[in-house]
Amino acid sequence: RAAALPPYLTGLNPEQREAVEALDGPVLVLAGAGTGKTRVLTTRIAHILATGRAYGSQILAVTFTNKAAREMKHRIGGLVGGAVEAMPWLGTFHSIGVKILRRHAELVDLKSGFTILDTDDQLRLLKQVIEAEGLDKDRWPARQLAGLIDGWKNRGLTPSKVPPGEGFAFGNGKGAALYAAYQKRLKELNAADFGDLLLETLRLFMEHPDVLADYHRRFRYILVDEYQDTNVVQYLWLRLIAQGSPNICCVGDDDQSIYGWRGAEVDNILRFEKDFPGARIIRLERNYRSTGNILAAASGLIAQNKGRLGKTLFTDGETGDKVTVMGVWDDEEEARSVVREIEEQGKAGQRLNGIAILVRASFQMRAFEDRFVTTGIPYRVIGGPRFYERAEVKDALAYLGVTLNPANDLKFERIVNVPKRGLGDTSVERIHALARARDIPLFRAAREIVETEELGGKARKSLRDLVTAFERWRSLIDTMKHTELAELILDESGYTAHWQNDKSPQAQSRLENLKELVRFMHEFETLEAFLEHVSLVMDTEQGDDGERVSLMTLHAAKGLEFDTVFLPGWEEGLFPHQRALDESGEKGLEEERRLAYVGLTRARRQAKVSFAQNRRTRGLYQSALPSRFVDDLPEANVEVLETKSPFGGAYQNFGNPFEGGFGRGGYGKSRFDNAEPRFGATYDTPGWQRAQSYEKTKSRDENWSRDAEQRRRSAMRPT
Ligand code: ATP
Ligand code: MG
Repeated sequence: RAAALPPYLTGLNPEQREAVEALDGPVLVLAGAGTGKTRVLTTRIAHILATGRAYGSQILAVTFTNKAAREMKHRIGGLVGGAVEAMPWLGTFHSIGVKILRRHAELVDLKSGFTILDTDDQLRLLKQVIEAEGLDKDRWPARQLAGLIDGWKNRGLTPSKVPPGEGFAFGNGKGAALYAAYQKRLKELNAADFGDLLLETLRLFMEHPDVLADYHRRFRYILVDEYQDTNVVQYLWLRLIAQGSPNICCVGDDDQSIYGWRGAEVDNILRFEKDFPGARIIRLERNYRSTGNILAAASGLIAQNKGRLGKTLFTDGETGDKVTVMGVWDDEEEARSVVREIEEQGKAGQRLNGIAILVRASFQMRAFEDRFVTTGIPYRVIGGPRFYERAEVKDALAYLGVTLNPANDLKFERIVNVPKRGLGDTSVERIHALARARDIPLFRAAREIVETEELGGKARKSLRDLVTAFERWRSLIDTMKHTELAELILDESGYTAHWQNDKSPQAQSRLENLKELVRFMHEFETLEAFLEHVSLVMDTEQGDDGERVSLMTLHAAKGLEFDTVFLPGWEEGLFPHQRALDESGEKGLEEERRLAYVGLTRARRQAKVSFAQNRRTRGLYQSALPSRFVDDLPEANVEVLETKSPFGGAYQNFGNPFEGGFGRGGYGKSRFDNAEPRFGATYDTPGWQRAQSYEKTKSRDENWSRDAEQRRRSAMRPT
């Protein structure tokens, strides 16, 4: 009998096979990391195709990223042998949504060639809408409104469905009305934003049952990966479509729900049985990905969370290396030692494609990218731009670049109206015209044009202010420390404030990136030396081919796996991230811990945690505390690496933290804390020292702006 089994079924364990073969009726595969959930989905599709149950075009399969969709298609091909017939409905929620929307655009007041707005377009439009309502656009930032609207769209709320009172805080009670006005403008422009791709499909289905019925007939099988991270609109959308066929199979892991901050609702997974009566729940418990130590470490960590369904996980694989934990002096040292180790592993024959560095915050990438470029190790950044290609970093570099060399036209043009200072396309075009006519750089043309009547009063004034500011900044190059000058420029130009006023979650990370950029400047003697280094780093080719180390955020690592995973920056305030704790308290902490679980479970053979004892901000060392997640790792599965101080000796506090007076038994402080309490007191409560550290972090930010104010004053004082 076994010989008759199609080859794609032979490697599966009994539960996996059950999940693949249970084609009729709803199925939920609820299982921990690395148990083969994605593999089950892929094999299930292969099985449907191979048994002739449906054509590829009759299968709706949802993945979390486009990359995952491509990979899945490729794997299916491998399983059924040969090319897979077209699977037009295999993709992300958004890519499937846009496809449906284009076919029926007229029904939701669009034309099929509608454009999809990117964030910049969206903001520009929102700004117009805000102004058209007679509101002050400086008081009511478009970004904040964008955040509100995205939130509503994620929850499946059209303007008329927004609960009364919500959005009241924005625009003198006009939040919801602005949303309605914005939607109307979108239709007039024949455009949709990202959120519309799902929300408008949902509306289409609800208002046009005949269209929905058509899709009901079409989709014989529905499959969804990473189900724990679906948000409300995705959930409603799925439920509508699934009314046509009971054959829906969702796979997920409540412990890996990491997008709550973006509206994902892990409850969707808990509701599955209710939503799909007669659902079969299949649990997979054998982990095929990680060694015993890694799996045990990850399981011990996630066990600290209270709100979870709870699962058993085991592996028949080898015990393998313990998870290593290393404390280093500072973040530069962390990058140096991680990259050094990667270099050694590479020399020893380890494939670079099998190595990943997973960071909590994008600013952490800077140090690693610099080391990679310096050492010539090829790398790729997954799921986002490289550090120096981030918009905010490029803007900041443009300001610095123009200060150093006013003739740099590209850079000048980039920031002439960033942040917005009333210099629209027409003004910029006039500067260009003059520059062309006289064959001079844009900056000089700008300086000349403000002496004429060419530009309107307001534009002329703000351009004059900008030119004067650049000239003053330039005059400070020789007298002011380059790092202080950089901060001064970012403050005075209004660039820092531009992001400080921004209430979107991304703004925080942009500010962190700006700080990191300035922080890194301390490593250089002059502005010039720094900019030269940056241009070298930016110049290195980043193909996607060949063997490369992967660098990405923990969020982007979901579903992926690597032989060796480095997990740097396990420090309080960074991971768990302060913002998650401040904004969502215990819930936020649990989501951060799930993120740590996701990180650890990406590793097949080696997981390497590290933390820096000090992070340098603006040239000053701030002591950091090891993350509480380090304490969450079971002692038996962890090896603490002895760390040398830059002065040769071992740190006094890194003897063997598991022994002596501050082991895990001695609760009240981390086993990595100094034997000498750093803040000079005894520990009454476990949270005491951490509370101190939060205070420190906070006041650091306050100092940041206060200092900025002082610098501004002293720079303006006539000398
Ligand atoms: P995650 O929760 O991280 O998304 P997952 O549950 O989707 O994980 P997969 O990525 O499907 O897990 O599988 C993890 C690894 O285990 C993959 O390398 C996969 O090929 C392998 N694997 C899964 N099932 C088996 C099996 N029956 N035999 C051998 N290897 C398997
Ligand atoms: Mg998976």
